[in-house]
Amino acid sequence: MFDKILIANRGEIACRVIKTARRLGIRTVAVYSEADARARHVEMADEAVCIGPAPAAESYLRGERVLEVAKRTGAQAIHPGYGFLSENAGFAEACAAAGVVFIGPPTEAIRVMGSKAESKRVMTGADVPLVPGFHGQAQDLDTLAAEAERIGFPVLVKASAGGGGKGMRVVREAAAFADAVAGAKREARAAFGDDSVLLEKYLTRPRHVEIQVFADTHGNCVYLFERDCSLQRRHQKVIEEAPAPDLPDALRTRMGEAAVAAARAVGYVGAGTVEFLYEDGGFYFIEMNTRLQVEHPVTEMITGLDLVEWQIRVAAGEPLPLTQDRLTRRGHAFEARLYAEDPQRDFLPAIGRLVHLRPPEESAHVRVDTGVRQGDEVSMYYDPMIAKLIVWDETRDAALRRLRTALAAYEVVGVTTNVAFLGAIAGHPAFRAREIDTGFIDRYRADLVPAPAPVPARGLVLASLAVLLARGATAVRTAGDPWSPWRMVNGWRLNDDNHHDLRFRDSDELRAVTLHFRPEGYEVELGGAAPVRVTGARYESGALAAVIDGVRVRATVVAQGHDLTILSDGSVWRLTLDDPSARAADAEGGSGRLTAPMPGTVVRVLAEPGQAVERGTPLMLLEAMKMEHTITAPGRGTVRSVSYAAGDQVSEGVELLVIDIEEEG
Ligand code: ADP
Ligand code: ADP
Ligand code: MG
Repeated sequence: MFDKILIANRGEIACRVIKTARRLGIRTVAVYSEADARARHVEMADEAVCIGPAPAAESYLRGERVLEVAKRTGAQAIHPGYGFLSENAGFAEACAAAGVVFIGPPTEAIRVMGSKAESKRVMTGADVPLVPGFHGQAQDLDTLAAEAERIGFPVLVKASAGGGGKGMRVVREAAAFADAVAGAKREARAAFGDDSVLLEKYLTRPRHVEIQVFADTHGNCVYLFERDCSLQRRHQKVIEEAPAPDLPDALRTRMGEAAVAAARAVGYVGAGTVEFLYEDGGFYFIEMNTRLQVEHPVTEMITGLDLVEWQIRVAAGEPLPLTQDRLTRRGHAFEARLYAEDPQRDFLPAIGRLVHLRPPEESAHVRVDTGVRQGDEVSMYYDPMIAKLIVWDETRDAALRRLRTALAAYEVVGVTTNVAFLGAIAGHPAFRAREIDTGFIDRYRADLVPAPAPVPARGLVLASLAVLLARGATAVRTAGDPWSPWRMVNGWRLNDDNHHDLRFRDSDELRAVTLHFRPEGYEVELGGAAPVRVTGARYESGALAAVIDGVRVRATVVAQGHDLTILSDGSVWRLTLDDPSARAADAEGGSGRLTAPMPGTVVRVLAEPGQAVERGTPLMLLEAMKMEHTITAPGRGTVRSVSYAAGDQVSEGVELLVIDIEEEG
């Protein structure tokens, strides 16, 4: 067994591999780009070495640099993760030449399976059923067009070197064929530096069912059941599950055996995935991925095994830990891939800082594989996957319920994500009913990616409460029952209809909210519908709890300046506070006008003109009914003026003090 391994990757998969290595008592070396100097995988590893600038071509893809680091740090083996160098036969060869173990299959297996066309030629000899098509060497248009006619439209033109859904064109009629071939070749040349294509019959309602295989250097080869990865957008997996729903056991066995035959045909060693399309009871080989796959955790959840541990053991020359007849599975698992991307804009990748990031709590049922923490940046340099959420339970229905709950609890602010989209899939009746195939997402796009709608009443109420409570937040000093109505910022006075007007910008609309202070709390008017009653509220470090129309609810409201993100039970709403007085203060520049957050009485004045203050210095105590509110300095500066004295009555919004701010808080 190795004492030290190097992980030639980043993000969640690097963290994932380090975790297992640590459990096995193996020391780890991380490599990183300049953009990743403070990344989670760097922090987790025992040693870390910078290998170049942010672009992958200048860092994570530089095999010779990675090998140098392995030798310098004494790492005996390299785990390539997925992507980057994982399917690079040249790199695997260079490792062997340098006497460093490549944790992956033999070079020749990578080479053969790296070409979809060549792998299909080899599979023909191994009696593995193929999608009907053409995978010959000829690439001239006449041959390809004739083959397309023979196969029959629709056909799929596919880059032989392809991956990640790139370099594919569906062709429905002969007239469109030449253009499609030219397009696929262009894309393939740019993405893979190789423009050869193959043709396949385009199956119209297939499921993507793949088999996890494992082989060792002692001649053993097993399959660890299947994964259904039919939920795809742009031919890329979004949600995966194991086992595949409604797959007859006899078929499962036949697919498993075909996958083992495929692996044996290329002298396979290590972890691999044989991908099939499954339609009308038949299954057809499409490709083999010669690495650990993104969705391997669902297999781990149903088998109770650690596939990275198996990879490391096999690479160290150990036999497979289990034989085929000792492999069992239990229950059902789902994986959802959380991406920084915008479903509304055709899943365009998004970038930004993860201002707020709270994954659901992990348990025996919920697992979160991630490479980022709150405050980290999602950059344009790398894959936009933020995390993988994996759930397990005894049955598919129970696991799906867990998926919905965990997605609803997943809080990400700062970057546009597909969380709501994933939640919509998990809650879709057709998904629950197991009516899945690779066309699912396109078919139900209107349900899954609804047109942008105005923020509902609940969102406006939650946002208003957060704004009000934040203005007096440091001040809520009432002891006792946290649900007492007096715990809220309340400006109620006898015989007086005090109210507070707020305005929010919701996309291009202005939305007005009026909060009337009542003895028992607030009455919130939103224009139109019946007013909403709020009888208790608390807001602390982003967490809002409120009793709305008699129901206790929880939400998270994250403020970035005047931009508010409201997360409530899986919904995410965005509003911008339209605050005329704040705008005036901004325009004045360098001065902080502090206004009364509610009507009340000045209890004490704690600062005087000319006094230097720090952010958080208490300036004035205000009382509204049974609560005291401390007005504090928003940043470092000097008090310019104080407008009231102890005992004065103030109405909401009046200017209490002005601070000349030197440094924003
Ligand atoms: P699968 O493993 O099921 O084939 P995909 O093909 O969708 O999944 O994803 C694998 C591909 O995703 C990689 O080949 C790579 O292009 C990209 N990728 C995703 N995350 C990373 C990452 N952290 N590092 C490198 N590549 C990544
Ligand atoms: P990649 O290397 O990009 O993963 P694959 O050959 O594995 O390419 O195909 C990716 C996805 O494209 C499949 O999961 C499936 O949804 C779709 N696909 C591939 N081949 C066909 C086909 N012949 N008919 C219909 N869909 C296909
Ligand atoms: Mg594939």
